Amino acid sequence: MEKKQQVDYIIVGQGLAGTLLSHFLLLENQRVVVLDYPHEGRTSNIAAGLVNPVTGRRIAKSWRFEELSAFAKETYQSLEGQLGVQLWHDRRIVRALHNTFEENEWMRRSGYPEFQSYMNDEPEMAEFAGKVKEPHAWGELTGCAQVALPLLVESWRKLLEREGLFFTENIDYQKLRFENGQVVYNNWSAQKLIFCVGAKAVENPFFNHLPFLATKGELLIVRIPGLQAGRILKHKLFLVPLGEDLYWAGSTSRFEFEGPNPTSLGRETLLAELEKTLAVPFEVVSHLAGIRPTVADLRPFLGLHPQYPALAIFNGLGTKGALLGPFFAKQMTNFLLRKGELEAEVDIKRFEQTVRSGHFFTKDKTG
Ligand SMILES: Cc1cc2nc3c(=O)[nH]c(=O)nc-3n(C[C@H](O)[C@H](O)[C@H](O)COP(=O)(O)OP(=O)(O)OC[C@H]3O[C@@H](n4cnc5c(N)ncnc54)[C@H](O)[C@@H]3O)c2cc1C
Repeated sequence: MEKKQQVDYIIVGQGLAGTLLSHFLLLENQRVVVLDYPHEGRTSNIAAGLVNPVTGRRIAKSWRFEELSAFAKETYQSLEGQLGVQLWHDRRIVRALHNTFEENEWMRRSGYPEFQSYMNDEPEMAEFAGKVKEPHAWGELTGCAQVALPLLVESWRKLLEREGLFFTENIDYQKLRFENGQVVYNNWSAQKLIFCVGAKAVENPFFNHLPFLATKGELLIVRIPGLQAGRILKHKLFLVPLGEDLYWAGSTSRFEFEGPNPTSLGRETLLAELEKTLAVPFEVVSHLAGIRPTVADLRPFLGLHPQYPALAIFNGLGTKGALLGPFFAKQMTNFLLRKGELEAEVDIKRFEQTVRSGHFFTKDKTG
């Protein structure tokens, strides 16, 4: 019989979740292999990576922003040292307020002490004069950041490859075996296998009854030589400077979609928003799409399978992976190493479980 390679952890999926989890497990001197297949619709390689203290039309504060962003900054900066690339960029976002409702919400929130340090009511806008369509009013968010997620996953994959820890494998769930408390897949045997497969989790028979509510996002990379923006602009859409006159322009958000690829509807929507935003010409360089692993209660999914404790999940980073990822990858690591507990709010145990024929279901609240 072929000899199996014994490791401590098999991580499936190397987007942001698998990258951060493998990073923290390796820091703890664990034996890790990472198996990933580059499926259409994966997101970390196309995301803007914004870390934003205040989001949405109603200008809500991001959950546990101070604690999560401080830990995120520390983690990405430590990875910068290891990978020799810049990942964390401190940023400001100038935000168009399109009507009196938005302006009133802005003024109301910026009066609260916990918002004050992030909100500037009178931003300097000379940089955008004549280049951007004038909205009703402007505000500015400080304390934001942009994390180079595509660069992070690519650089981390190269590091794993150099160490012999990365394998291109499209996991076939039917081939998983459980032997003597170990999980076995192809040539590897491990005490735990952790799924970090993003929105593809809905295809995973072991975890596909968690309430994933994936959203498809499309974006354009555009060249705008006349804009010369140093700050991120949030007008009809986000315009994130990438350097050399290129901008990340997005994004759409759809719960209902046919497949992972860019669509003509998405392109038209984005072009219409660009027309409503810009007063200078632009040129489309590329059109990209991904599926966000968004979830019903907006909290990450961490934990063990109730029937197969050799299987675990780290997922549900949703629209805020750059902010949530580091803190909860560390929490998952401590949990796996029996050095800490999972918080109830992120533990998948929060979905009351009924194990039926190998699956578990969210309990019907009306039942
Ligand atoms: C348009 C858009 C904009 C976004 N902007 C932001 C932003 O500004 N800030 C922010 O914080 N977040 C943003 N996000 C969300 C962010 O992308 C996610 O939170 C995060 O990247 C999710 O990472 P992940 O590792 O869970 O999933 P993914 O990045 O999708 O990684 C999953 C990996 O698993 C692989 N995989 C799947 N199935 C298998 C299998 N069977 N075998 C092997 N490998 C498999 C996939 O191919 C992929 O490589 C954005 C998302 C989109 C779509």
